[in-house]
Amino acid sequence: DVTVTIIGGGLAGSEAAYQLARRGAKVRLFEMRPKAFTPAHKTSKLAELVCSNSLGSDMLSSPAGILKAEMRKLDSLILTCADRHKVPAGWALAVDREAFSEEVTSTIRSMPSIEVVTEEVTHLSEGPAIIASGPLTSTALASCLKDMLGEDFLYFYDAVAPVVLRETINMGVAFFGSRYGYGEDYINCPMNEEEYERFYEALVNAEVAMRHDFEEEHFFEGCLPVEVIAKRGRDALRFGPMRPVGLADPKTGREPYAVVQLRQDDRYGRLYNMVGFQTNLKWSEQDRVFRLIPGLEEAEFARYGVMHRNIYVNAPAVLDEWLRIKGFDDIFMAGQIVGVEGYIESTAMGLVAALNLFCVINGLPLLSWPRNTAIGSLLWYMKNANPSGFQPMNINLGLFPPLPKKIKDKRKRCELMAGKALSELEAFMKARQDVFC
Ligand code: FAD
Repeated sequence: DVTVTIIGGGLAGSEAAYQLARRGAKVRLFEMRPKAFTPAHKTSKLAELVCSNSLGSDMLSSPAGILKAEMRKLDSLILTCADRHKVPAGWALAVDREAFSEEVTSTIRSMPSIEVVTEEVTHLSEGPAIIASGPLTSTALASCLKDMLGEDFLYFYDAVAPVVLRETINMGVAFFGSRYGYGEDYINCPMNEEEYERFYEALVNAEVAMRHDFEEEHFFEGCLPVEVIAKRGRDALRFGPMRPVGLADPKTGREPYAVVQLRQDDRYGRLYNMVGFQTNLKWSEQDRVFRLIPGLEEAEFARYGVMHRNIYVNAPAVLDEWLRIKGFDDIFMAGQIVGVEGYIESTAMGLVAALNLFCVINGLPLLSWPRNTAIGSLLWYMKNANPSGFQPMNINLGLFPPLPKKIKDKRKRCELMAGKALSELEAFMKARQDVFC
C-alpha cells in the first residue's frame, strides 16, 4: 500500500500519475504552480503547453505520427485530451491549449487515488518516485539533482544546430574531408561567391523564433546563433564556421569561396549536425534558408536548431534502460529532463517511467519496449547515445532501425515503419497482460 511521489504536473508528470492511478496505485503529485512559477509557465493548470499549441504531425507517414498512434494504443491521457480539443491544423495535431489543460487537470483531480499537492519539492531522498520537473526545473530541486547525479547533470542554455539525415545529402555536390587533409570525417558543402551571397541575404533577413525575456541574458560568445554572427558583417561567417581554408573541393582541386561542414552525430553515421550552425530561426525558415546550401537542397532535418534554457540529465550515463536513476531501486525520471525533446516525446517518457515503477512496486519484471516502436527507438537512443556531448532528441527516422530494403520515398518508408511499430506494440501489450490490462 505504498504511495508514489511524482514531482511536476507537466505533460510527463500528469501522464505518469494517470497511468499509475488507473492501475490502482496511490499517487501524490507535487506541482509548484501557482505558488511558484517557471519562467515560461503562466497558469496553475496541469499539463500547460509553454509555447506552441501544436503537438506535431499526426500522420502515420511521419515519425511523430507513429509516436502518437502508439500513445493512443497505450491509453495516453494527454493524447485523449488532445484529440478531444483539437483545432484545425492540417496534418498536425494542434489543440485549444486552455481547454486541453483544463481537461487534463479535471481528470487528474477527479481520480480518487491521486492527491495533488501545490508545493515546490526542494529535495528527494527516497522512492518510490518519479522526477518529472521538466526543462525549467526549479533552482532548489535542480541543485539537489546536481548533488545526486554529479557532473552528468546538465544545465545550460541550449544552443542546438540542426541535424540532417545523411541519406538526404546530395553527395554529388558535397564531399568528405577534413581541413588540411586530416582525414575524411566531415561532409563539406562548398559554395561559390554567388551561392554565398544568396545564402547570406536569405539568412540575415530570415525570421527568428519568439524568444522569452528570460532567455536573453544567457547568450554567450562561444555559442552565438549563426544568424547573429552573419549580421556582424558579410564575411563574418567566411572567417568563422564557414571558413574554407584547407578544404580543397575534389571536383575543382581548389578551396571553395565558403563551406558548410557537417559532422557525424550518431554511432551509425545516419545523422549529421551542421557545425557552428546553432540557430534561433523559425523551423520553416530553417527549411527554406538551409536548403539554399549546395548539397542540402533536399535535406530532411531530423531535428531543427533551437535555443532555450534546458535542464536535462546525461541519460546514457545516469539512467538505466527503464529510466531509473542508476543505483536506486525505485527512483525514476521522466519527461524532457531524461533527454528527449518535444511535447509528445516528454509525455511518452512519463508513461514509460510510470509503467516501470508500477512493475517495481508490484514485483513484476520491468518492461523492455520493442525496438521497432517509436517509444522503443527513443529509449534505445538514450541508452546508446554517446555520453560525451549528449543532446536531447526528438523522434525522427534516424532513431528507428533501418528497413532491410532501401526505400527512397520518405512517406512510404515511414508507413512501413508504422506498420511494424504498431504490430510489435500490440504483441508486446498482449504478452504483458499483467501491465496492459
Ligand atoms: P513540463 O511540462 O515543463 O512540466 C514540468 C512541471 O514541473 C511544470 O509544471 C513545473 O511547474 C513543475 N516543477 C518544476 N520544478 C518543480 C518543483 N521543484 N516542485 C514541483 N513542481 C515543479 N516542445 C514542443 O514540442 N513544442 C514547443 O513549442 C516547445 N516549446 C518549448 C519552449 C520552452 C521555453 C521550453 C523550455 C521547452 C519547449 N518545448 C517544446 C520542449 C518540451 O516539449 C516542453 O518543455 C514540455 O513541456 C516538457 O514536458 P515535461 O513534462 O518534461 O515538463
